[in-house]
Amino acid sequence: MSSAGAAFRTLDQLTAEHDLRGKRVLVRVDFNVPLVSGESGLQVGDDTRVRAALPTVRTLLDAGSTIFLISHLGRPKGAPEDAFRMGPVAARLAELLGQEVRYLAVDGPVSAEQQSFVAAAPPGSVTLLENSRFDARETKNDPEMARILASYADYYVNDAFGAAHRAHATTEAVAHLLPSAAGALMSAELTALRRLTDRPERPFVVVLGGAKVSDKLGVIESLLEQADAIIIGGAMAYTFELARGGRVGRSLVEPDLVDTARRILDNAAERGVELLLPADSLCAQELAAGVETRVFPTGNIPADWLGLDVGPAAVEEFSRVLEGARTVFWNGPLGVFETPPFDTGTTAIATLVASLDAYTVVGGGDSIAALAQTGMQDRIDHVSTGGGASLEFVEGVELPGVTALEAN
Ligand code: ADP
Ligand code: MG
Repeated sequence: MSSAGAAFRTLDQLTAEHDLRGKRVLVRVDFNVPLVSGESGLQVGDDTRVRAALPTVRTLLDAGSTIFLISHLGRPKGAPEDAFRMGPVAARLAELLGQEVRYLAVDGPVSAEQQSFVAAAPPGSVTLLENSRFDARETKNDPEMARILASYADYYVNDAFGAAHRAHATTEAVAHLLPSAAGALMSAELTALRRLTDRPERPFVVVLGGAKVSDKLGVIESLLEQADAIIIGGAMAYTFELARGGRVGRSLVEPDLVDTARRILDNAAERGVELLLPADSLCAQELAAGVETRVFPTGNIPADWLGLDVGPAAVEEFSRVLEGARTVFWNGPLGVFETPPFDTGTTAIATLVASLDAYTVVGGGDSIAALAQTGMQDRIDHVSTGGGASLEFVEGVELPGVTALEAN
Protein backbone atom coordinates (compact mmCIF):
# COMPACT_ATOMS: atom_id res chain seq x y z
CA MET A 1 0.00 0.00 0.00
CA SER A 2 2.48 2.62 -1.13
CA SER A 3 -0.05 5.49 -1.06
CA ALA A 4 -0.42 4.91 2.65
CA GLY A 5 3.28 5.29 3.31
CA ALA A 6 3.54 8.44 1.23
CA ALA A 7 6.64 10.57 1.50
CA PHE A 8 5.76 13.56 -0.62
CA ARG A 9 6.42 17.22 0.04
CA THR A 10 3.49 18.99 1.66
CA LEU A 11 2.44 22.52 0.77
CA ASP A 12 3.71 23.75 4.14
CA GLN A 13 7.11 22.20 3.46
CA LEU A 14 7.19 23.75 0.01
CA THR A 15 6.47 27.26 1.31
CA ALA A 16 8.87 26.86 4.24
CA GLU A 17 11.78 25.46 2.24
CA HIS A 18 11.45 27.46 -0.97
CA ASP A 19 11.11 31.19 -1.50
CA LEU A 20 8.08 31.35 -3.78
CA ARG A 21 8.10 35.12 -4.23
CA GLY A 22 7.90 35.82 -7.95
CA LYS A 23 7.77 32.10 -8.71
CA ARG A 24 5.15 30.48 -10.91
CA VAL A 25 3.19 27.53 -9.56
CA LEU A 26 1.02 25.17 -11.60
CA VAL A 27 -1.76 23.80 -9.40
CA ARG A 28 -3.89 20.80 -10.39
CA VAL A 29 -7.27 21.29 -8.72
CA ASP A 30 -10.53 19.36 -8.87
CA PHE A 31 -12.96 21.89 -10.33
CA ASN A 32 -15.14 19.20 -11.88
CA VAL A 33 -18.30 20.97 -10.70
CA PRO A 34 -21.89 20.85 -11.95
CA LEU A 35 -22.80 23.77 -14.24
CA VAL A 36 -26.37 25.06 -14.42
CA SER A 37 -28.08 27.66 -16.62
CA GLY A 38 -28.32 31.06 -14.96
CA GLU A 39 -29.43 34.55 -16.00
CA SER A 40 -26.19 35.26 -17.84
CA GLY A 41 -25.38 31.81 -19.18
CA LEU A 42 -23.82 28.86 -17.39
CA GLN A 43 -22.85 29.13 -13.75
CA VAL A 44 -21.50 26.86 -11.03
CA GLY A 45 -24.32 24.85 -9.44
CA ASP A 46 -22.49 23.55 -6.37
CA ASP A 47 -19.22 25.30 -5.49
CA THR A 48 -18.03 22.85 -2.79
CA ARG A 49 -15.02 21.80 -4.83
CA VAL A 50 -14.07 25.41 -5.63
CA ARG A 51 -14.20 26.30 -1.94
CA ALA A 52 -12.17 23.20 -1.09
CA ALA A 53 -9.26 24.53 -3.15
CA LEU A 54 -9.18 27.95 -1.45
CA PRO A 55 -6.72 27.08 1.37
CA THR A 56 -4.08 25.99 -1.14
CA VAL A 57 -4.67 28.97 -3.44
CA ARG A 58 -4.51 31.43 -0.53
CA THR A 59 -1.35 29.84 0.91
CA LEU A 60 0.38 30.16 -2.46
CA LEU A 61 -0.79 33.75 -2.93
CA ASP A 62 0.42 34.67 0.57
CA ALA A 63 3.79 33.17 -0.34
CA GLY A 64 4.00 35.65 -3.20
CA SER A 65 3.67 33.25 -6.12
CA THR A 66 1.84 33.53 -9.43
CA ILE A 67 -0.71 30.78 -9.84
CA PHE A 68 -1.94 28.74 -12.79
CA LEU A 69 -4.82 26.46 -11.95
CA ILE A 70 -5.80 23.53 -14.11
CA SER A 71 -8.68 21.03 -13.87
CA HIS A 72 -10.91 18.85 -15.98
CA LEU A 73 -14.65 19.53 -16.06
CA GLY A 74 -17.20 17.02 -17.34
CA ARG A 75 -16.38 14.62 -20.12
CA PRO A 76 -15.55 16.55 -23.29
CA LYS A 77 -14.06 14.19 -25.85
CA GLY A 78 -10.58 15.62 -26.26
CA ALA A 79 -11.77 18.75 -28.09
CA PRO A 80 -13.20 22.13 -27.06
CA GLU A 81 -16.92 22.17 -26.18
CA ASP A 82 -18.60 25.37 -24.98
CA ALA A 83 -20.70 23.48 -22.41
CA PHE A 84 -17.51 22.50 -20.55
CA ARG A 85 -15.52 25.73 -20.57
CA MET A 86 -13.92 26.83 -17.30
CA GLY A 87 -15.28 30.40 -17.57
CA PRO A 88 -18.13 29.98 -15.04
CA VAL A 89 -15.67 28.42 -12.56
CA ALA A 90 -13.26 31.36 -12.98
CA ALA A 91 -16.12 33.75 -12.19
CA ARG A 92 -17.11 31.86 -9.06
CA LEU A 93 -13.51 31.52 -7.89
CA ALA A 94 -12.99 35.27 -8.32
CA GLU A 95 -16.02 35.94 -6.08
CA LEU A 96 -14.77 33.54 -3.41
CA LEU A 97 -11.18 34.81 -3.51
CA GLY A 98 -12.09 38.48 -3.77
CA GLN A 99 -9.47 38.80 -6.47
CA GLU A 100 -9.47 38.78 -10.26
CA VAL A 101 -9.10 35.35 -11.85
CA ARG A 102 -7.63 35.51 -15.35
CA TYR A 103 -9.31 33.25 -17.87
CA LEU A 104 -9.37 33.12 -21.64
CA ALA A 105 -11.63 30.82 -23.67
CA VAL A 106 -9.12 28.94 -25.83
CA ASP A 107 -8.97 25.65 -27.72
CA GLY A 108 -7.11 23.85 -24.97
CA PRO A 109 -4.79 24.31 -21.97
CA VAL A 110 -1.62 24.07 -24.07
CA SER A 111 -2.86 25.80 -27.23
CA ALA A 112 -0.72 28.64 -28.64
CA GLU A 113 -3.21 31.24 -27.39
CA GLN A 114 -3.20 29.71 -23.92
CA GLN A 115 0.60 29.77 -23.89
CA SER A 116 0.68 33.51 -24.72
CA PHE A 117 -1.97 34.19 -22.07
CA VAL A 118 0.14 32.35 -19.50
CA ALA A 119 3.28 34.23 -20.52
CA ALA A 120 1.45 37.54 -19.96
CA ALA A 121 0.39 36.75 -16.37
CA PRO A 122 1.43 39.54 -13.98
CA PRO A 123 3.19 38.62 -10.70
CA GLY A 124 0.77 37.61 -7.96
CA SER A 125 -2.07 36.90 -10.40
CA VAL A 126 -4.33 33.86 -10.54
CA THR A 127 -5.02 32.28 -13.93
CA LEU A 128 -7.47 29.47 -14.57
CA LEU A 129 -6.41 27.44 -17.60
CA GLU A 130 -8.91 25.93 -20.01
CA ASN A 131 -10.42 22.45 -19.37
CA SER A 132 -7.63 19.85 -19.41
CA ARG A 133 -9.86 17.39 -21.25
CA PHE A 134 -10.20 19.68 -24.26
CA ASP A 135 -6.87 18.08 -25.16
CA ALA A 136 -7.07 14.37 -26.02
CA ARG A 137 -3.55 13.91 -24.69
CA GLU A 138 -4.65 14.59 -21.09
CA THR A 139 -6.18 11.16 -20.46
CA LYS A 140 -3.28 9.50 -22.32
CA ASN A 141 -0.81 10.88 -19.77
CA ASP A 142 1.03 12.37 -22.73
CA PRO A 143 4.60 13.55 -22.11
CA GLU A 144 4.47 16.35 -24.71
CA MET A 145 1.36 17.89 -23.16
CA ALA A 146 2.99 17.55 -19.74
CA ARG A 147 6.17 19.21 -21.06
CA ILE A 148 4.25 22.30 -22.22
CA LEU A 149 2.36 22.48 -18.91
CA ALA A 150 5.62 22.21 -16.99
CA SER A 151 7.02 25.09 -19.06
CA TYR A 152 4.36 27.35 -17.48
CA ALA A 153 5.78 27.08 -13.97
CA ASP A 154 8.68 26.58 -11.54
CA TYR A 155 6.71 24.29 -9.20
CA TYR A 156 3.79 21.87 -9.39
CA VAL A 157 1.19 21.37 -6.65
CA ASN A 158 -1.46 18.66 -6.86
CA ASP A 159 -4.56 19.42 -4.81
CA ALA A 160 -6.94 17.28 -6.89
CA PHE A 161 -7.45 14.28 -4.65
CA GLY A 162 -10.59 13.41 -6.64
CA ALA A 163 -8.45 12.86 -9.75
CA ALA A 164 -5.49 11.17 -8.03
CA HIS A 165 -6.60 7.69 -9.10
CA ARG A 166 -6.10 8.65 -12.75
CA ALA A 167 -2.69 8.74 -14.43
CA HIS A 168 -3.28 11.76 -16.66
CA ALA A 169 -0.94 14.41 -18.05
CA THR A 170 -2.05 16.98 -15.43
CA THR A 171 -1.96 14.52 -12.49
CA GLU A 172 0.95 12.20 -13.28
CA ALA A 173 3.30 13.03 -16.16
CA VAL A 174 3.71 16.70 -15.20
CA ALA A 175 4.58 15.84 -11.60
CA HIS A 176 7.81 14.23 -12.80
CA LEU A 177 8.93 17.40 -14.57
CA LEU A 178 8.80 19.98 -11.75
CA PRO A 179 9.55 20.07 -8.02
CA SER A 180 6.20 18.96 -6.62
CA ALA A 181 4.06 19.11 -3.52
CA ALA A 182 0.68 17.88 -2.31
CA GLY A 183 -1.86 20.66 -1.77
CA ALA A 184 -3.66 21.19 1.54
CA LEU A 185 -6.78 19.32 0.45
CA MET A 186 -4.79 16.41 -0.93
CA SER A 187 -2.84 16.12 2.34
CA ALA A 188 -6.00 16.34 4.46
CA GLU A 189 -7.69 13.61 2.40
CA LEU A 190 -4.74 11.26 2.67
CA THR A 191 -4.33 11.84 6.39
CA ALA A 192 -8.02 11.16 7.04
CA LEU A 193 -8.22 8.07 4.84
CA ARG A 194 -5.07 6.61 6.33
CA ARG A 195 -6.93 6.32 9.64
CA LEU A 196 -9.11 3.73 7.88
CA THR A 197 -6.30 1.67 6.38
CA ASP A 198 -3.61 2.05 9.02
CA ARG A 199 -4.72 0.14 12.11
CA PRO A 200 -8.28 1.54 12.40
CA GLU A 201 -9.77 1.66 15.85
CA ARG A 202 -12.08 -1.37 16.20
CA PRO A 203 -14.78 -2.31 15.63
CA PHE A 204 -14.40 -0.96 12.08
CA VAL A 205 -17.78 -0.97 10.34
CA VAL A 206 -18.20 -0.26 6.63
CA VAL A 207 -21.48 0.77 5.01
CA LEU A 208 -21.67 0.26 1.26
CA GLY A 209 -24.58 1.14 -0.98
CA GLY A 210 -25.25 2.58 -4.39
CA ALA A 211 -26.40 1.12 -7.64
CA LYS A 212 -23.74 -1.31 -8.77
CA VAL A 213 -21.77 -4.15 -7.20
CA SER A 214 -19.33 -3.86 -10.09
CA ASP A 215 -18.28 -0.35 -8.95
CA LYS A 216 -17.41 -1.59 -5.48
CA LEU A 217 -16.25 -5.15 -5.94
CA GLY A 218 -12.60 -4.36 -5.36
CA VAL A 219 -13.25 -2.44 -2.20
CA ILE A 220 -15.56 -5.11 -0.77
CA GLU A 221 -12.98 -7.83 -1.34
CA SER A 222 -10.23 -5.78 0.22
CA LEU A 223 -12.38 -4.68 3.17
CA LEU A 224 -13.10 -8.31 3.99
CA GLU A 225 -9.53 -8.32 5.26
CA GLN A 226 -9.83 -5.09 7.22
CA ALA A 227 -13.35 -4.53 8.51
CA ASP A 228 -15.18 -6.19 11.38
CA ALA A 229 -18.58 -5.75 9.74
CA ILE A 230 -19.74 -4.76 6.27
CA ILE A 231 -23.26 -3.46 5.84
CA ILE A 232 -24.59 -3.69 2.30
CA GLY A 233 -27.57 -1.65 1.12
CA GLY A 234 -28.69 0.01 -2.10
CA ALA A 235 -29.31 -1.98 -5.27
CA MET A 236 -26.09 -3.90 -4.56
CA ALA A 237 -27.90 -5.81 -1.85
CA TYR A 238 -30.19 -7.52 -4.38
CA THR A 239 -27.36 -9.16 -6.29
CA PHE A 240 -26.11 -10.53 -2.95
CA GLU A 241 -29.63 -11.62 -2.01
CA LEU A 242 -29.92 -13.51 -5.33
CA ALA A 243 -26.64 -15.22 -4.52
CA ARG A 244 -28.18 -16.38 -1.25
CA GLY A 245 -31.10 -17.87 -3.20
CA GLY A 246 -33.64 -15.14 -2.41
CA ARG A 247 -36.37 -13.76 -4.68
CA VAL A 248 -35.87 -10.06 -5.42
CA GLY A 249 -38.66 -9.32 -7.93
CA ARG A 250 -37.71 -6.64 -10.41
CA SER A 251 -35.05 -5.06 -8.18
CA LEU A 252 -31.92 -3.82 -9.95
CA VAL A 253 -29.45 -6.73 -10.12
CA GLU A 254 -26.28 -7.66 -11.97
CA PRO A 255 -26.88 -11.32 -12.95
CA ASP A 256 -23.29 -11.85 -14.11
CA LEU A 257 -22.01 -10.94 -10.65
CA VAL A 258 -24.12 -13.42 -8.70
CA ASP A 259 -21.31 -15.99 -8.59
CA THR A 260 -18.86 -13.35 -7.41
CA ALA A 261 -21.33 -12.25 -4.74
CA ARG A 262 -21.66 -15.85 -3.57
CA ARG A 263 -17.88 -16.16 -3.31
CA ILE A 264 -17.75 -12.94 -1.26
CA LEU A 265 -20.45 -14.22 1.11
CA ASP A 266 -18.53 -17.49 1.60
CA ASN A 267 -15.29 -15.62 2.10
CA ALA A 268 -16.86 -13.36 4.74
CA ALA A 269 -18.27 -16.37 6.59
CA GLU A 270 -14.86 -18.07 6.57
CA ARG A 271 -13.12 -14.98 7.89
CA GLY A 272 -15.74 -14.28 10.53
CA VAL A 273 -16.53 -10.88 9.04
CA GLU A 274 -20.13 -9.94 9.61
CA LEU A 275 -21.66 -9.19 6.19
CA LEU A 276 -25.13 -7.75 6.67
CA LEU A 277 -27.80 -7.55 3.98
CA PRO A 278 -31.03 -5.63 4.63
CA ALA A 279 -33.56 -7.93 6.31
CA ASP A 280 -36.38 -6.05 4.60
CA SER A 281 -36.87 -3.57 1.77
CA LEU A 282 -39.17 -0.68 1.02
CA CYS A 283 -40.65 -1.67 -2.35
CA ALA A 284 -42.86 -0.23 -5.09
CA GLN A 285 -44.12 -1.36 -8.49
CA GLU A 286 -42.40 1.56 -10.18
CA LEU A 287 -39.89 4.20 -9.26
CA ALA A 288 -41.78 7.47 -8.80
CA ALA A 289 -42.59 9.88 -6.01
CA GLY A 290 -45.83 9.21 -4.16
CA VAL A 291 -46.36 5.66 -5.46
CA GLU A 292 -47.85 2.92 -3.29
CA THR A 293 -45.10 1.33 -1.18
CA ARG A 294 -44.86 -1.90 0.79
CA VAL A 295 -42.25 -3.52 2.96
CA PHE A 296 -41.19 -7.07 2.02
CA PRO A 297 -38.43 -9.34 3.29
CA THR A 298 -35.49 -8.65 0.96
CA GLY A 299 -35.35 -12.33 0.00
CA ASN A 300 -39.06 -12.54 -0.75
CA ILE A 301 -40.04 -9.64 -2.99
CA PRO A 302 -43.02 -10.44 -5.29
CA ALA A 303 -42.33 -10.69 -9.01
CA ASP A 304 -43.76 -7.30 -10.02
CA TRP A 305 -42.25 -5.27 -7.12
CA LEU A 306 -38.81 -3.78 -6.80
CA GLY A 307 -36.71 -2.91 -3.77
CA LEU A 308 -35.91 0.82 -3.68
CA ASP A 309 -34.75 1.33 -0.10
CA VAL A 310 -33.76 -0.64 2.97
CA GLY A 311 -36.75 -1.34 5.25
CA PRO A 312 -37.36 -0.54 8.93
CA ALA A 313 -36.07 -3.87 10.29
CA ALA A 314 -32.88 -3.42 8.25
CA VAL A 315 -32.38 0.11 9.62
CA GLU A 316 -32.81 -1.24 13.14
CA GLU A 317 -30.27 -4.03 12.65
CA PHE A 318 -27.76 -1.78 10.87
CA SER A 319 -28.12 0.80 13.65
CA ARG A 320 -27.37 -1.81 16.30
CA VAL A 321 -24.12 -2.77 14.54
CA LEU A 322 -23.12 0.86 13.92
CA GLU A 323 -23.74 1.90 17.51
CA GLY A 324 -20.81 -0.22 18.71
CA ALA A 325 -18.42 1.02 16.02
CA ARG A 326 -15.25 3.02 16.70
CA THR A 327 -14.45 3.59 13.01
CA VAL A 328 -16.99 3.94 10.21
CA PHE A 329 -16.52 4.28 6.45
CA TRP A 330 -19.63 4.90 4.40
CA ASN A 331 -19.88 4.97 0.62
CA GLY A 332 -23.09 4.78 -1.39
CA PRO A 333 -26.73 5.61 -0.57
CA LEU A 334 -28.83 2.76 0.84
CA GLY A 335 -31.76 3.49 -1.46
CA VAL A 336 -32.95 5.73 -4.27
CA PHE A 337 -32.54 8.75 -2.00
CA GLU A 338 -33.32 11.18 -4.85
CA THR A 339 -36.99 10.07 -4.78
CA PRO A 340 -38.85 10.22 -1.44
CA PRO A 341 -39.86 8.15 0.44
CA PHE A 342 -36.93 5.99 -0.75
CA ASP A 343 -34.54 8.33 1.05
CA THR A 344 -35.79 7.09 4.43
CA GLY A 345 -33.15 4.42 5.08
CA THR A 346 -30.27 6.59 3.89
CA THR A 347 -31.42 9.53 6.01
CA ALA A 348 -31.81 7.34 9.10
CA ILE A 349 -28.33 5.87 8.72
CA ALA A 350 -26.79 9.28 7.91
CA THR A 351 -28.33 10.73 11.06
CA LEU A 352 -27.06 7.84 13.14
CA VAL A 353 -23.52 7.91 11.69
CA ALA A 354 -23.36 11.66 12.38
CA SER A 355 -24.25 11.08 16.03
CA LEU A 356 -21.71 8.28 16.66
CA ASP A 357 -18.78 8.58 19.02
CA ALA A 358 -16.52 7.07 16.36
CA TYR A 359 -14.14 8.21 13.65
CA THR A 360 -16.45 8.65 10.65
CA VAL A 361 -15.62 9.06 6.97
CA VAL A 362 -18.13 9.48 4.14
CA GLY A 363 -17.13 9.40 0.46
CA GLY A 364 -18.92 9.41 -2.88
CA GLY A 365 -20.76 12.14 -4.78
CA ASP A 366 -24.25 10.76 -4.19
CA SER A 367 -23.49 9.84 -0.59
CA ILE A 368 -22.39 13.40 0.11
CA ALA A 369 -25.53 14.75 -1.58
CA ALA A 370 -27.62 12.42 0.60
CA LEU A 371 -25.72 13.52 3.69
CA ALA A 372 -26.20 17.18 2.74
CA GLN A 373 -29.98 16.60 2.62
CA THR A 374 -29.81 15.78 6.33
CA GLY A 375 -27.76 18.90 7.09
CA MET A 376 -25.33 16.86 9.16
CA GLN A 377 -22.09 17.03 7.17
CA ASP A 378 -20.40 18.98 9.95
CA ARG A 379 -20.78 16.09 12.34
CA ILE A 380 -18.86 13.69 10.11
CA ASP A 381 -15.12 13.62 10.81
CA HIS A 382 -14.14 13.56 7.17
CA VAL A 383 -16.26 14.05 4.06
CA SER A 384 -14.11 12.95 1.15
CA THR A 385 -14.30 15.05 -2.02
CA GLY A 386 -13.12 12.13 -4.14
CA GLY A 387 -15.53 9.20 -4.48
CA GLY A 388 -13.58 6.92 -6.80
CA ALA A 389 -10.22 7.96 -5.40
CA SER A 390 -11.29 7.35 -1.79
CA LEU A 391 -12.60 3.88 -2.69
CA GLU A 392 -9.36 3.00 -4.45
CA PHE A 393 -7.31 4.31 -1.53
CA VAL A 394 -9.28 2.25 0.98
CA GLU A 395 -8.98 -0.72 -1.36
CA GLY A 396 -5.20 -0.37 -1.14
CA VAL A 397 -4.71 0.49 -4.80
CA GLU A 398 -1.81 2.81 -5.54
CA LEU A 399 -2.99 6.29 -6.59
CA PRO A 400 -0.81 7.41 -9.55
CA GLY A 401 -1.29 11.10 -8.73
CA VAL A 402 0.08 10.51 -5.23
CA THR A 403 2.89 8.18 -6.25
CA ALA A 404 4.12 10.72 -8.83
CA LEU A 405 4.42 13.33 -6.04
CA GLU A 406 6.51 10.95 -3.98
CA ALA A 407 9.04 10.73 -6.80
CA ASN A 408 9.60 14.45 -6.92
P1 ADP B 1 -21.75 7.42 -4.67
O1 ADP B 1 -21.87 8.51 -5.71
O2 ADP B 1 -21.99 7.93 -3.29
O3 ADP B 1 -20.47 6.65 -4.82
P2 ADP B 1 -23.19 5.53 -6.27
O4 ADP B 1 -23.00 6.41 -7.47
O5 ADP B 1 -22.45 4.27 -6.21
O6 ADP B 1 -22.94 6.37 -4.94
O7 ADP B 1 -24.74 5.12 -6.16
C1 ADP B 1 -25.75 6.09 -6.06
C2 ADP B 1 -26.98 5.69 -6.82
O8 ADP B 1 -27.46 4.43 -6.39
C3 ADP B 1 -28.09 6.67 -6.60
O9 ADP B 1 -28.40 7.31 -7.82
C4 ADP B 1 -29.24 5.82 -6.07
O10 ADP B 1 -30.49 6.19 -6.61
C5 ADP B 1 -28.86 4.43 -6.55
N1 ADP B 1 -29.54 3.39 -5.77
C6 ADP B 1 -29.45 3.16 -4.45
N2 ADP B 1 -30.27 2.16 -4.07
C7 ADP B 1 -30.90 1.74 -5.19
C8 ADP B 1 -31.90 0.74 -5.47
N3 ADP B 1 -32.39 -0.03 -4.51
N4 ADP B 1 -32.33 0.61 -6.75
C9 ADP B 1 -31.81 1.39 -7.72
N5 ADP B 1 -30.89 2.35 -7.54
C10 ADP B 1 -30.44 2.53 -6.29
MG1 MG C 1 -22.38 8.38 -7.83
